[in-house]
Amino acid sequence: MTPKDEPLIGSILSEDEIWSCTTCGACEAECPIFIEYIDKIVDLRRGMVDEGLVPQSLQKPLKALEKRGNPWGKMEKKRAEWTKTLPETCDVKLFENGDEAQTLYFVDSITSYDDRMQNIARATACLLSAAGEDFGILGKDEKDSGNEIRRFGEEMLFQDIKFQNTEAILGTGVTKIITADPLP
Ligand code: SF4
Repeated sequence: MTPKDEPLIGSILSEDEIWSCTTCGACEAECPIFIEYIDKIVDLRRGMVDEGLVPQSLQKPLKALEKRGNPWGKMEKKRAEWTKTLPETCDVKLFENGDEAQTLYFVDSITSYDDRMQNIARATACLLSAAGEDFGILGKDEKDSGNEIRRFGEEMLFQDIKFQNTEAILGTGVTKIITADPLP
């Protein structure tokens, strides 16, 4: 069998190699002859996802993202729970309650749900409050930013979540977005 006839996946590249890349970009940044490689890895993953070749470890978080908009499958209504322990001086508006504001603070999943990361959300909210920013959060209407979903090659799910976030954001009428987790 010539190299041309060999299947790319499982022969030239192992499945493990394809899923091991974190798409950090370090290799492309350092490559002296500017070989671009990451988009091809992500394309290979898209093809594998289409064929149902998703690693076991990714199946559960991807299902949870599809169902609940976060990789742990936590309830949407708990997305804004971190706001309940804010000091009285911090005022966070909730668009899901019909509040209006000029700026959206897009919190994203890990900062919304993870006990330690919630401190980032609380600190950001207090900082914005102290600076006099008129801002609010989407709460249960916010979905994951989709960055990892896209890197995993689940393009359809990414587009779906992006659409839901876009609709929710457009519905608020905000003119600015602040986030620590940029939307892809
Ligand atoms: S982008 Fe390059 S350096 Fe980063 S994990 Fe993938 S192969 Fe490694």
